[in-house]
Amino acid sequence: MPEKVVVIGSGPASWAACIYTSRANLEPLCFEGAITEENRLQGTLPLGQLALTTEVENYPGFPAGNLESYLNDSIDESKRKYMAPHPGHGVSGPELMELMRQQAVNFGTRVVTDDVVDVDFSSHPFKITPLNGEPVEALSVIIATGARANYLGLDSENRFKNMGVSACAVCDGAMPRFRNHPLVVVGGGDSAMEEANYLTKFASKVYIVHRRDEFRASKIMAERALANEKIEVKWNSVIDEVLGNDEKGVTGVRIRSTEDEGQTEELEATGYFAAIGHTPNVSFLKGQIETNDKGFIQWKIPFRTNTSVDGVFAAGDVADDNYKQAITAAGSGCMAALDAERWLVEKGHE
Ligand code: NAP
Repeated sequence: MPEKVVVIGSGPASWAACIYTSRANLEPLCFEGAITEENRLQGTLPLGQLALTTEVENYPGFPAGNLESYLNDSIDESKRKYMAPHPGHGVSGPELMELMRQQAVNFGTRVVTDDVVDVDFSSHPFKITPLNGEPVEALSVIIATGARANYLGLDSENRFKNMGVSACAVCDGAMPRFRNHPLVVVGGGDSAMEEANYLTKFASKVYIVHRRDEFRASKIMAERALANEKIEVKWNSVIDEVLGNDEKGVTGVRIRSTEDEGQTEELEATGYFAAIGHTPNVSFLKGQIETNDKGFIQWKIPFRTNTSVDGVFAAGDVADDNYKQAITAAGSGCMAALDAERWLVEKGHE
């Protein structure tokens, strides 16, 4: 028997879709992604981008407050024991994600900890092929695979990955090589502000290198970074090269002025963090779903999550090059669940 709904992904969009489809008795099967070194390096481990952040202050329902006992009570012990200690106020990204996952599991979602590596949407039921295990047939599919962090694409960035180059301060910031040394963050959005602020916990100083003379980040995040005494902004500057050697890894960066091409400066640093936006995780679709010019899945009906393939829906950051917030992802996950449910009824699959 084909599955009624297969959900691919494990961020807020996916868990919201799982909660709604479980409660509609559609018994969703969710591929949450695999725990592999490759996924760790490219920032695509299960639970998505929120699992790579610190405090979440803008998700409604979590004012400042201590959630310790609630987390102990509500999350299964098998997951809770691997979580970092609760910071003592509000909710962190990893905690929020474990709470959402648990809620989906409580309503009967079956979770497979594996990547989907191939899909066949050319005939119905659709075919979903995981990295390990047998292909699965599905009457409807919700794609909620999110997006991953971009790098500038410099050879020197590649060379020093795992040796001082990272795109996730929360994952790597506490490593010994980053403690009490200057670090560099490139970017001017909320991610760059968040990464830079977080890194000041460990670093002696954090440079933010930004290509313009103003930040794209929200006012509150930008002001917090600018008020931090450990942060120095290098405005109107781009990274020319990440400097280093095989023995020490990253030793600094060379930046170039965007106003005077000939003007360069070397900044000494033991770490370089890219925070320059995200790319949607769509490669496993192999072009079977229409995307926009930035590669994000396109909704084919305004304010509906229908994609270019009838019966396949998309939610969250994989279909959003604009808002990219936890709350909008969760909201669109709910929309996709309702759209899939109605579609199944319309097609007589219920
Ligand atoms: P973003 O808002 O797209 O910002 C990317 C930044 O990187 C921009 O400042 C951009 O410069 C710069 N950039 C892009 N390509 C570059 C290149 N090739 N060379 C140099 N600089 C480059 O991405 P984001 O900061 O990852 O944020 C994504 C979304 O997540 C946003 O909606 C944000 O609000 C949200 N977010 C929210 C929080 C929070 O609320 N706690 C935290 C993190 C992210 P320009 O400005 O010149 O284009």
